[in-house]
Amino acid sequence: MDVWDVAIIGGGGAGLTAGLYASRANLKTCLFEKINTGGQISLTDDVENYPGFPEGITGPEISMKMEEQAKKYGTVIITEEIKGLEERNSVFVLKTAGKEYFSKTIILASGASPRKVGVPGERELTGKGVSYCATCDGAFFKNKQIVVVGGGDSALQEGLFLTRFASKVNVIHRRDKLRASPILQDRAFKEPKIEFIWDTVVDSIQGANNKVDQIKLKNLKSNEIRDFKTDGVFVFVGHDPETKYIGDFVKLDEKGYVIADPVMMQTSRKGVFAAGEVRTGAVKQLVTACGEGCAAALQAQYYLENLENH
Ligand code: NAP
Repeated sequence: MDVWDVAIIGGGGAGLTAGLYASRANLKTCLFEKINTGGQISLTDDVENYPGFPEGITGPEISMKMEEQAKKYGTVIITEEIKGLEERNSVFVLKTAGKEYFSKTIILASGASPRKVGVPGERELTGKGVSYCATCDGAFFKNKQIVVVGGGDSALQEGLFLTRFASKVNVIHRRDKLRASPILQDRAFKEPKIEFIWDTVVDSIQGANNKVDQIKLKNLKSNEIRDFKTDGVFVFVGHDPETKYIGDFVKLDEKGYVIADPVMMQTSRKGVFAAGEVRTGAVKQLVTACGEGCAAALQAQYYLENLENH
């Protein structure tokens, strides 16, 4: 039976950094990714807040470099989706559609995906005016008119952040009451650049020359549909953790995120660690995901050393 020392699930910043550290510690390391490595960062045109790149770097480029670096030291990337996890005779079993893999430790780094609104044009124009990350993309909308979709804390907090760049931010919310905390509501209502469009959803997103220029808005009370000119659509309608495959293998919080110690990265099951956005309470930035991936790999290393000494 072929047994890996470390099996990493997810090839975003957390997973690739875990791979780099684990393989540089001479641990036999594999990383599972269902489609392409890079995670959410590969969806971003320009990364301007990752230290060491004062000119910025594109999302795909930094993802490719991280993958190259992890592979250089021995991380083996396996392009398969993990469907389930099990512990059998003190070895972890990672199940894909038709195969089983075995490992002494696991690092869960499968991330979370921003929820989509699911309207025509959204997928095609992602990265071309449709964004799920204000920190990443806000600066591209200097003096532009943009919309924010959602009525929760993220929508208002990010909407307020976007007023640093945009000339106008229209917040589109499907109800006439916000879910966001009162303090954020208060700040948003006082911000002259923010205007609310109530009881309304985005019906479709349109663009010419691969760039958003207009959306259709539907008023849910009157059912009226109208055109609305805009340069950008920022969607903040919640996140969904990528944890379906975990089942009850480790403890999850009520929203489905993995519960793990933020210092030791240890989950409820010994030998299983979590890093990055999949972990409850994680700060959703590339640099912190990488830091957590590093910490998880070091903890896996110490755990394996301990196993050998007993
Ligand atoms: P959230 O609280 O789940 O809010 C999502 C918002 O999007 C809701 O207003 C919801 O409308 C709307 N929505 C959901 N699906 C939609 C759809 N298909 N079309 C249109 N609108 C849709 O998510 P979040 O704002 O990302 O916050 C997640 C968690 O992080 C929350 O616990 C939040 O408190 C926390 N958070 C805190 C802060 C802070 O304290 N500063 C900042 C960010 C996030 P309804 O209201 O009608 O359901």
